[in-house]
Amino acid sequence: MDKIVSLAKRRGFVFQSSEIYGGLNGCWDYGPLGVELLKNVKDEWWKAMTFREDIEGIDAAILMHPRVWEASGHVENFSDPMVDCRECKARFRADQIEDAMCGNPGFKGRKASKCQAEGKFTEARQFNLMFKTFIGPVEDAGAVVYLRPETAQGIFVNFLNVQSASRQKIPFGIAQIGKAFRNEINTKNFLFRTREFEQMEMQYFVKPGTDVEWFEQWRTLRMQWFLDLGVTREKLQWHQHEKEKLAHYAKDAYDIEYQFPFGWGEIEGVHNRTDFDLSRHEQYSGKSMKYFDEAAKEKFTPYIIETSAGASRSFMAFLVDAYREEEAPTADGNVEVRTVMKLHRRLAPLKAAVFPLVNRDGMPEIGRKIEAAIRPHFRVFYDDSGAVGRRYRRQDEVGTPYCFTVDSQTLQDETVTVRERDSMKQERLGIDAVVRYLTDRLAGGR
Ligand code: ATP
Repeated sequence: MDKIVSLAKRRGFVFQSSEIYGGLNGCWDYGPLGVELLKNVKDEWWKAMTFREDIEGIDAAILMHPRVWEASGHVENFSDPMVDCRECKARFRADQIEDAMCGNPGFKGRKASKCQAEGKFTEARQFNLMFKTFIGPVEDAGAVVYLRPETAQGIFVNFLNVQSASRQKIPFGIAQIGKAFRNEINTKNFLFRTREFEQMEMQYFVKPGTDVEWFEQWRTLRMQWFLDLGVTREKLQWHQHEKEKLAHYAKDAYDIEYQFPFGWGEIEGVHNRTDFDLSRHEQYSGKSMKYFDEAAKEKFTPYIIETSAGASRSFMAFLVDAYREEEAPTADGNVEVRTVMKLHRRLAPLKAAVFPLVNRDGMPEIGRKIEAAIRPHFRVFYDDSGAVGRRYRRQDEVGTPYCFTVDSQTLQDETVTVRERDSMKQERLGIDAVVRYLTDRLAGGR
């Protein structure tokens, strides 16, 4: 993990938020390559969801009417139990003490559970995870609003707006990507548990009675999405929530978990939310949230199958899964360790790099021409500094799938070498075939 965090900083994937002021706990900034990777993750999800006839997109506001969070159950239930250590003042989630370490730097390596056994902790108190703020100039109770802790509610309250505007019939879904905020008691493990993060959520509205079937379909599709984007099969697993521990709204719930260096962690939840959400919004708003089935001439409250993924947590899973240290032969016949980010080519932040072998004999001019031909289509990086082997390593480290090199043969026959990141195999192709080569491998749908 430490290696990945340091590479992420050094190469501009992720920086600590407000670093020059000592950082802000649980918040991270995405750098030039990180923002590309995150965008590619979101684009892949958006395509998988909305390039279908039965799913529409939406982008709801982060601030919503405060009654939304009463109806959803967040005001009442969205809390974690918190305990404080009377001695070192560290704060823990009472249900996660097993994994936590003592906060006293003098007791390095000591488990928090030991301190608990010694009676150092306070009684558990419930702590609501929603961030509160005020709308308008007066900071009184009537002006309280919350930063949304999930994007889903913006979908539920717009269910009938979307349905009638798009003339969708049940079953159909609504997809949304956006920021969510949770005032987590403990933030840890890099991007895994942060206070500001992004979610990619899709709510699929179905007729009651067909929910179990749709739940299974969505489980299959969501796991396949991670596999199609190259995540190692053995590092993905399902975790079913035990019936007794199900959230207040859920009939069944499974998490897709990824095996991070610190252990298995949820990256996406697939939930059967029944008619809980629409019924509650109907009750709290006084507006009907029922669907009228024209064919059957009947009215009903749809059940909802939810797929709820973290964009930032998925980002981290893709990054961790792609990171490799491999032995690679050097030009002089030795072996060196190369760090390579084997990101799926559709996720890679840069798609291509162009190198002139030397900075003379017209090679830079040809290199710049190739770069200019690629640039309108794909993210490309031009690099003319240092030995070519080093330039390859720099691109390997950030996952660039294809590197094109202009060499002395280019001057004779207008061909360049293309070197593929994973196999490190090189072949020659004509300069005018470069864009086509990339398009064949990178463009197109899923
Ligand atoms: P956890 O038990 O880890 O707190 P959760 O069960 O509360 O997660 P959900 O409410 O199901 O999570 O949220 C859906 C998805 O949103 C998660 O699978 C995860 O990818 C993402 N997510 C939730 N909380 C965070 C967070 N604090 N930081 C980053 N991503 C998060």
